[in-house]
Amino acid sequence: MNKLKEKSQQLSTITQMSAGIAHEIKNPLTAIKGFLQIGAANPELRDNYQEIILDEVNRIEAIVQDFMMLSKPKSSIQMEEVEADEVLSYVLRLLEPEAQDKNVFLRSEKMHLEETILTEPKRLNQILINLVKNAIDAVDDGGEVMVHSEVLRNELTLSVSDNGPGLTAQELAKIGEPFFTTKEKGTGLGVMVTKKIVADLNGTISYKSKKGEGTTVTVKLPRQP
Ligand code: ADP
Ligand code: MG
Repeated sequence: MNKLKEKSQQLSTITQMSAGIAHEIKNPLTAIKGFLQIGAANPELRDNYQEIILDEVNRIEAIVQDFMMLSKPKSSIQMEEVEADEVLSYVLRLLEPEAQDKNVFLRSEKMHLEETILTEPKRLNQILINLVKNAIDAVDDGGEVMVHSEVLRNELTLSVSDNGPGLTAQELAKIGEPFFTTKEKGTGLGVMVTKKIVADLNGTISYKSKKGEGTTVTVKLPRQP
């Protein structure tokens, strides 16, 4: 592709993203405004709206957080040499309460994680948090999420499997498109953010899924990008 065409395509992606973000933020804002107006006119009803308003504010916060991650340049990465297990165990501890809350078994399998890797712990955390959260969201009560991680030769491999509903070929094609979500409170930005972080760390990400048979997401990152 020539440079000019590439530039104009980038611009059109930015325009589409901005329009999408504005739209996604405007909806909850309109709802918040409406509930505040009703509450102002009917003080006795205010308590009923507190929870909805907080939900909508949380939604805006989640969208803005994801969006900020998307606009962070690759040059802001701060590499550190860390033991792989340090980062991975932290994320699993962080997500355990959420898994327990939903009665989901969060299991992990680790190989050679005492090895060190060169990475930005914050971004690596974010990758794993996004993938595990999606897996937890996908499975039913009593479902299972398995996080397999291993350092082998020059690569860190993370794979997150779940026994949720899986994805159809059409859904698989859409995953990672901005605002593609099937959740009531989803932003549809998580996979996109994850893909960007993985690319910034010079890694690869792939989805394997079959309807009715669960999903496995595999991320491979070079140990020394
Ligand atoms: P969000 O989680 O806010 O919906 P994401 O970009 O993280 O946004 O995910 C987009 C969509 O991809 C989800 O709404 C869901 O439909 C689908 N998806 C992602 N991970 C899985 C998974 N492990 N199993 C089934 N569907 C998934
Ligand atoms: Mg998500």
